[in-house]
Amino acid sequence: MTNNTLYERALSLLARFYGYHSFRPGQYEVVEAASGGRDCVVIMPTGGGKSICYQLPALLSQGCGVVVSPLIALMQDQTQGLVANGIPAAAIHSNQDESVNQRIFDAAYNGRLKLLYISPERLLLELDRFRALKISLFAIDEAHCISQWGHDFRPDYTALSSIKRQFPSVPVVALTATADRLTRDDIVAQLGLHDPYCLLTSFDRPNISLRAYTNPDKKTRMRFIASMAAKYPQDSGIVYSLSRKGAESTCEALAALGLRVVCYHAGMSPQGRDASLKAFLDGSAQVVCATVAFGMGIDKSNIRWVVHCNMPGNIESYYQEIGRAGRDGLPAEAILFYSYADVIMRRNFAQESGQREVNLEKLARMQAYAEARVCRRRILLSYFGEERNCDCGNCDNCKNKPERFDGTILAQKALSAVMRTRQEIGIAMLINILRGAQRYDVRQAGYDLLPTFGVGADLMYEEWNDYINQMLQLGLLEMAYERGNKLNVTPYGMRILRGIERIELSVCPPPEALKSKKSAKKEIVVSTDPVEQLFEQLKAVRSDISRKQGLPPYLIFSDATLLDMARRRPADLDAMLAVSGVGETKAAKYGRHFVQAIRRFEGLGGSTPKGTSVKETLILFNAGLSVPEIAESKGVKVSTIQNHFAELIENGLVTSFHKLITADEYKDIAATLTSRPDTAYDELKQRYAPGLISIAKAIIKVNS
Ligand code: ADP
Ligand code: ZN
Repeated sequence: MTNNTLYERALSLLARFYGYHSFRPGQYEVVEAASGGRDCVVIMPTGGGKSICYQLPALLSQGCGVVVSPLIALMQDQTQGLVANGIPAAAIHSNQDESVNQRIFDAAYNGRLKLLYISPERLLLELDRFRALKISLFAIDEAHCISQWGHDFRPDYTALSSIKRQFPSVPVVALTATADRLTRDDIVAQLGLHDPYCLLTSFDRPNISLRAYTNPDKKTRMRFIASMAAKYPQDSGIVYSLSRKGAESTCEALAALGLRVVCYHAGMSPQGRDASLKAFLDGSAQVVCATVAFGMGIDKSNIRWVVHCNMPGNIESYYQEIGRAGRDGLPAEAILFYSYADVIMRRNFAQESGQREVNLEKLARMQAYAEARVCRRRILLSYFGEERNCDCGNCDNCKNKPERFDGTILAQKALSAVMRTRQEIGIAMLINILRGAQRYDVRQAGYDLLPTFGVGADLMYEEWNDYINQMLQLGLLEMAYERGNKLNVTPYGMRILRGIERIELSVCPPPEALKSKKSAKKEIVVSTDPVEQLFEQLKAVRSDISRKQGLPPYLIFSDATLLDMARRRPADLDAMLAVSGVGETKAAKYGRHFVQAIRRFEGLGGSTPKGTSVKETLILFNAGLSVPEIAESKGVKVSTIQNHFAELIENGLVTSFHKLITADEYKDIAATLTSRPDTAYDELKQRYAPGLISIAKAIIKVNS
């Protein structure tokens, strides 16, 4: 090992434990800096690969890495994932019996853990005890929580500033997905980091497609969400609502449509929340209807879509929330439903908040995103200070380049209706008048007698809504927030109304769910693409293992891994290790099931040829299986495996023998062979299996 460079060692650990064959841009630089004892600040979007940045330095160093994480559920998820990859990790928290916590602390103390997760308040209680530990590094996850400038300040986090004082020589790695400069600098200051190495990667998540719809009604929203669930039957989705009540009513509505849904918000009991989280993580619930209380650090790789039923208050929050989708790098979708009611609500929040100006400004930027007619990704990235001079091609505005048309007459209809009601109506009433809705409130106000009543019956409610919003954006109309959100015609609008100027509008693309009510059903087609077919079969194998072992599917293999597997079609365990995301532990644990499915798919017969692969034996051995276990897993005799080992020893591929033969056995066999070379074999056969004798012979050969 010692003559290997740090880079080579890091790469080999990455392959062995995680099954990845290269670092993502920036990851190795942090690994190197942290391994060298330097503080680091890592700012990467959700799904960017922050965990490797502190986990690998911990694996490379002596001692245990201590990871501060804000939520118990997250810690459990992370430690489960690590253990599944063969990395000893555990969490100390207050939802767990103190005797268990004590055992975990002892394990860390005795050097049996590489990573220890802990909540901030608990860490402070334990700091004195931690002095006795050999700590390789501190990792502060969701580090923006320490800053009052961030959008998720947690008082618990401020006390973390004492870590650096108490452990000046232990490197601290602060990680977050929030980028703005103020928060970033504040993290460094609050934690007292010393000349930190900073990694700021691109915030682009090109695999997440972006869409926004203006003000669809509740039924349309629910239908849309149901179509998303049907489009990705094997995968999960998140529906965010502004309020707890909103989350609950969405949950009920979706349940009524037959979806497997759970609710999650801060008003629920801790047990209720845990149950929801568990159901979502293990896939028994496909959709979670939640408030923003849900999701921080959720590491579930097969979240395919995120729907916001209401507009968030700022772009940071929005980007973080949609970033939970598509963490495996496969296509994912982010859909925003937006209405003026949201803007009003958010405006009130911002007015009452501590930093009124900042928050109003942030809200305005979010609103501009929602209303945008240009590439949405450019808006997001420019918000995070990234230059981008071309359209992304993966947002609604790029895909349906808004076609423009002369909207003068259309606008005049609406403007005229507003004027004739003496500017006393809001958007909904305006649309009802234009579409000639036979409603009690319309008739009662006498609006059904206006000449403009029903002049826009050719357009759907949603279409009018979109055009009226465009008129607001373009400044033909304005919203009188102080007068109960009634519409005013601006001087510019008056010029259009009088025909002095003309106006161009963008053609409104109706939401997909509206265009075809059957779209949900149509999406499920049986694929004829062999990769996709195999991918589906591999998913079925995964579900099967998941059920049998009571483990969430994504902890077995991510979709990205199964897809890579379907493309490469490894026909044995050795080839399996080349698949991205298959490390040694998982190859040994699950590899054979998938290899069998692949061989069946290729018409090669269900099971692998028994025990032909010596290399496979080595892989299983390296993953910690004993000789009898290897024999059982391969369905061959122990002595066959022992013969493999004899070959491996002779080739110098196995150099530690104590798991293969005891010292006494070896001494006895060696002595017999040297003292009575002619009769030794017959004599030994009485006492030992032939395979064991071969092992001893091989050891003698390499030692001589
Ligand atoms: P973050 O904490 O930044 O949100 P994670 O650390 O959970 O992101 O990583 C997101 C996903 O990317 C995980 O599935 C992880 O295994 C995967 N990943 C991380 N680093 C690599 C890499 N070098 N190669 C391939 N996949 C990676
Ligand atoms: Zn775009």
